[in-house]
Amino acid sequence: MKKITILGSTGSIGTQTLDVIASNIELFKVEHLVAGNNADLLIQQALKFKPKSVAINNLHIDKVKSNLDGTGIDVFDETKIDMIASDNVDLVVGAITGSSGLSPVYNAIKSGNDIALANKESLVCAGDMIMKLANKHKVKIIPIDSEHSAIFQVYSKQQKSELEKIILTASGGAFVDKDINFIKTAKLQDALKHPNWSMGQKVTIDSAGLMNKGLEVIEACYLFDVKVKDIDVVIHRQSIIHSMVSMKDGSTLAQMGYPDMKTPIAYALSYPKRIYSGVNTLNFYEMNDLTFEKPDLKKFPALQLCKNSMEDGNGKPTILNASNELAVEQFIKGNILFGNISEIVESMLSIINSKTPNDLQEFNELHNETITKTKEYVKSINIGNS
Ligand code: MG
Repeated sequence: MKKITILGSTGSIGTQTLDVIASNIELFKVEHLVAGNNADLLIQQALKFKPKSVAINNLHIDKVKSNLDGTGIDVFDETKIDMIASDNVDLVVGAITGSSGLSPVYNAIKSGNDIALANKESLVCAGDMIMKLANKHKVKIIPIDSEHSAIFQVYSKQQKSELEKIILTASGGAFVDKDINFIKTAKLQDALKHPNWSMGQKVTIDSAGLMNKGLEVIEACYLFDVKVKDIDVVIHRQSIIHSMVSMKDGSTLAQMGYPDMKTPIAYALSYPKRIYSGVNTLNFYEMNDLTFEKPDLKKFPALQLCKNSMEDGNGKPTILNASNELAVEQFIKGNILFGNISEIVESMLSIINSKTPNDLQEFNELHNETITKTKEYVKSINIGNS
């Protein structure tokens, strides 16, 4: 039995991970569950999967403790998440969204735990640090992000000299057919209408502006040890091909399937084997056309911002990630319009100078500086009143 810790167990990836585990209960033992604020769901999960411990935000700890009283399950608050992530297991699923997922993933790697990584932001904001640490501790990082899982399934780093291009597919997000003025002034409810995938709020908003695809370009650079120029992004509205690699001999290898995160989750849990995920295989007789288009960089400037920041290095991806997280948070609150997100990120990239962070302390300094400056900038644009 594989021992599994899930960081972010009540979110979109966390709940789907537990669905896959429930379908293969003879293969996995849930060791620890870490949640944010959803106490009711964490209690249900704990009673069903009987982990050694759970952790939740301090605000909810009394409720969780009283509900799990007598079960023998330890209940901790958020200050113990790094400790829980460090406990030796066979696989830690990193599914806490955003840069707050970095520290537990970092600590899990440090104690030699293999990682199934859904939290792309940890690679975007601290990819150099994470990959160095993973190499040092001989830790496997298996991607859950569907595009990277696709590439991971058809390509390995050892084939680098044979690689021509990595082709990341993108559904296009909620605004693929909208004009530039609509996109600039769009509000939350518009951005949350993702055509194909059911995902968390942050990633759905990132998808609407192709910021998500840009973050994924950076993620792919780290995971597969390639440069930005080695990656093409193609709009593929049907989300059937989850990404591809083109090789020197003219072959292109693709991984396909219905757009359901349980497929990449199942692969990350069982790699290198394959297990039942609950997702049907494709029915080609019922499939419509598969289409491919170039992304419109005028409508979606975030994609280019991500590529530029990865090429620049010097901490730019950290700045990009932090300013985007804060901008998305402000967008969710209704304080800014959709177009402001990429404007804010672009301004922060131009005004903050830095270098690549080498450890958590250097990372925190740059992240916090960016958050402070982004907050000042958001105040100055003041569109909340418009
Ligand atoms: Mg993805």
